[in-house]
Amino acid sequence: MISINEVEYSYDGSEQKALSGVSLEIRDGEFLAIVGHNGSGKSTLAKMLNALLLPDSGTVTVFGMDTADEELTLEIRKRVGIVFQNPDNQIVTTVVEEDVGFGPENLGVPTAEIIERVHNALEAVGMTDYAKSAPHMLSGGQKQRIAIAGVLAIRPDVLVLDEATAMLDPIGRKAVLDIAQSMNKQLGITVVMITQYMDEAVLADRVVVMNGGRIAMEGTPQEIFRRGEELREMRLDVPVMVELRDKLTAAGLMPESNALTVDGMAEELCPLLLKI
Ligand code: ADP
Ligand code: MG
Repeated sequence: MISINEVEYSYDGSEQKALSGVSLEIRDGEFLAIVGHNGSGKSTLAKMLNALLLPDSGTVTVFGMDTADEELTLEIRKRVGIVFQNPDNQIVTTVVEEDVGFGPENLGVPTAEIIERVHNALEAVGMTDYAKSAPHMLSGGQKQRIAIAGVLAIRPDVLVLDEATAMLDPIGRKAVLDIAQSMNKQLGITVVMITQYMDEAVLADRVVVMNGGRIAMEGTPQEIFRRGEELREMRLDVPVMVELRDKLTAAGLMPESNALTVDGMAEELCPLLLKI
């Protein structure tokens, strides 16, 4: 579990606070989405989760370890791995399998175990066939899958995806989302998914909305996406399917519903359309 308590943070030389009064508990095994407009503090918060940044005041505790304690930094980074937005910035070697093994190698994992971890991690992201490939030859989506494999090879308890789908085409996006969901559901890894896409946030157990360095809303996707007006004031959208649902309901064409996704809408609408 990660516990964030009254965290304040400003970057050097900046008068504006990047984080202000941020408190949040991230529960073991949950799939948490963090949304918010550009500059709302999402990446700053992500970097607090594995001691890449330390609070000016307040505390971040990762499985009982205070991130401000430098002796615990390595242990914290073994437990919490982050995948960032730009796949090209995360590639460090010229062969995929070396890249995936880079993390465990730095942590002093024995060679035989590195080989096994790399194999398993590539399998988990569906990239086994590319083990010997050159990363720069891969598509953006494939590179992000390699970056995720690199984090998985560290065997983290928490996977943080900081807009990891933002630079991908729809196929690459879907592959990364599917992997994040199966990591969470099948391996029980806690996933923190930072995203600008509301149709990705609906997949989460819980959504946190950031605005101006603060947590503005927190709740289930059902709860959050009923508050369309407030979201729009923070320059955020509601998911397309929620917009459609609300318009059809307002027009009397569909009963009140909790549908958030294409599948959910299809389930609601098919019986109605069959009656026509
Ligand atoms: P988000 O990820 O939601 O776009 P960030 O956490 O990157 O937001 O940024 C929060 C605030 O901190 C913004 O006002 C941004 O301009 C500022 N900021 C981010 N990174 C830096 C940095 N390296 N130096 C100075 N200011 C920064
Ligand atoms: Mg960011």
